[in-house]
Amino acid sequence: MSKPVLRFAPSPNGALHLGHALSALFSHDMARAMGARFLIRIEDIDIARCRAEYEARMLSDLAWLGLEWEQPVRRQSEHFETYEQSLRKLDAMGLLYPCFASRKEIAAHATPGQIDPDGAPLYPGLHKNLTQEEVQRRRDAGEPFALRLDMEKAIALARGQSGKALTFDELDPESGNIETGAADPARWGDAVIARKEAPASYHLCVVVDDALQGITHVTRGRDLYAATDIHRLLQTLLGLPEPRYTHHRLILDASGRKLSKSHKDKALSSLRAEGVSPADVRRMAGLSRKFRRSFRS
Ligand code: GLU
Repeated sequence: MSKPVLRFAPSPNGALHLGHALSALFSHDMARAMGARFLIRIEDIDIARCRAEYEARMLSDLAWLGLEWEQPVRRQSEHFETYEQSLRKLDAMGLLYPCFASRKEIAAHATPGQIDPDGAPLYPGLHKNLTQEEVQRRRDAGEPFALRLDMEKAIALARGQSGKALTFDELDPESGNIETGAADPARWGDAVIARKEAPASYHLCVVVDDALQGITHVTRGRDLYAATDIHRLLQTLLGLPEPRYTHHRLILDASGRKLSKSHKDKALSSLRAEGVSPADVRRMAGLSRKFRRSFRS
């Protein structure tokens, strides 16, 4: 039987902090405990915010932490045509529509407090029912647009294709237990599948790449738990294999906020410069113990 394959998939739009260290070490330890292959994937489709310097620094930080990964590293910005093929498939199924709404417009119409898995206000369906003429007029005028998934149609089609409700398997690496839960993408509305500035989105690229790279176990933080609903839907529609999922705990700051690059939480490289060792980072991330037992999944 072939080996399981795990990955760590950072976006090089800032410096790695302790939260990333937890995610990277968690995935790497779990891969080792399973006798799995381990990959790093650079998720840099947001070409306005991602930079080669950040990527180089990330890889150097990860090597310093003791991670070992297979070469070559996949860089999403080099594979836009691949994502476009999947985009075309979804379009041919009649599941995509152009949405010209700006962030401001969406925020003005959204229900306050309702947030989607991308952290944006939950899309209230603006522009879903534009006439063909209106779409054409706006396109001819050069208005930028995103492509959104018609969620209702997509769910109905996926159900027809698979004959059952969507689910996902969550593996607890401590106990080895697998729990099958319902995936409920309907609650996230018409997700963005291609952005104005790139012919792809996180949701599309992540499912395409996980399948292409043969990822058997997706390990990532609980902040991406909600996104799994959308990923299972896309996997079903595109006929991609279903990986297992493990969503690990997050590191929160004193105010209960998740650490983030944009809040400039302390970079690993700064900790390193202050004399903190990789073993200290493990302790600080609450990972002083490696996964002891080897488990099958
Ligand atoms: N690139 C995503 C991030 O940095 C992670 C995606 C994933 O693991 O599915 O948050």
